[in-house]
Amino acid sequence: MWGCRDHWFTLPKYLRDKIWAAYVPGQEITKTPSAAYIAAAHEVQQWIKDYLERNTVKVSLIRYTPDALQMLVGTKTTRLRGKKPEDMSEAELYDAYKYMLDTIRSPFDFVDYIFNIEGVSKNMTHQLVRTRAGAYQQESSRAVEVNEIVQPDKFLNDETLATIWHDAVADAEASYKELLSAGADLQDARAILPSNFATNIQAKFSLRTLSDMAKVRLCVRTGGEYQNAFRLMREEVLKVHPWADPLIQVSCVATGQCAFPRYGREKCTFYRPWMDLRSEQEELRKVFWATPLQTNNPVATGDGKSAG
Ligand SMILES: Cc1cc2nc3c(=O)[nH]c(=O)nc-3n(C[C@H](O)[C@H](O)[C@H](O)COP(=O)(O)OP(=O)(O)OC[C@H]3O[C@@H](n4cnc5c(N)ncnc54)[C@H](O)[C@@H]3O)c2cc1C
Repeated sequence: MWGCRDHWFTLPKYLRDKIWAAYVPGQEITKTPSAAYIAAAHEVQQWIKDYLERNTVKVSLIRYTPDALQMLVGTKTTRLRGKKPEDMSEAELYDAYKYMLDTIRSPFDFVDYIFNIEGVSKNMTHQLVRTRAGAYQQESSRAVEVNEIVQPDKFLNDETLATIWHDAVADAEASYKELLSAGADLQDARAILPSNFATNIQAKFSLRTLSDMAKVRLCVRTGGEYQNAFRLMREEVLKVHPWADPLIQVSCVATGQCAFPRYGREKCTFYRPWMDLRSEQEELRKVFWATPLQTNNPVATGDGKSAG
């Protein structure tokens, strides 16, 4: 076996076959590998380099709202006639922001992030673009030749799964190339490709949308590839806006509630018994509907807060 087990089975079968064909038992002791073996090893190294460049998910933040914290706190000044953010000390700014975390969430719509996401599968981006509150531009597989298929991480550790995967992908890739050589259009030839082909996408989300997405996309219920990409998006945001950390959390951490309680109660390591509030909710439901309509009295206190 060449390299560690996981990496060995990441290699396509044709390369593993080349290594075996050129390998001479004992060469690792005599330190005299044949020229054929060295050539095969170089080919493998080049393949790994290309694979890592193409297939590793890369997320970068290409644009974001500047002075976002001041701007957010400014929206509160508009609501409650508080001190202007430019007149606040840093401590006052963070205090005002913390206050905002417990109130109306609409100001977080004012802050935007544009991400460049590379080396993810079309399956993952299909899920990503279901978030309608985002804007997207994606590489076209009608106009551009596809040259990589994203391998699920779980296939790296299992010889049987890895072998089935590589064989099937090699067949699909060969047929794709054959169709193109025979004159098929890219947009028709792509029909033969596995839905996990690699793609690049740019996506814009507001901080409010990212906060909503985080609740479910950092959750174990979301597939590993998307969870991983979302963690990278979160990292990028926190590099420029570390104060956004409490807003980009998985549901159970953000709210103390499980986003998928039927699953969570049975199977999730992060589920806690105190998250099960069904009997308290039922008790409250009865009280709520048995009580006449009430309303609060939100009067600004002059320090950018409300007493009501
Ligand atoms: C773990 C998981 C598994 C899933 N599995 C599946 C599946 O198997 N099949 C499937 O079909 N879906 C599935 N989904 C759901 C799908 O991925 C969601 O559609 C996607 O997550 C977007 O969610 P959303 O509709 O809340 O977001 P958005 O579409 O961004 O909506 C966010 C909010 O904006 C509102 N909104 C959106 N557009 C407008 C508009 N034009 N005007 C006014 N308000 C608007 C929405 O009502 C919502 O309140 C799954 C989701 C998760 C998290």
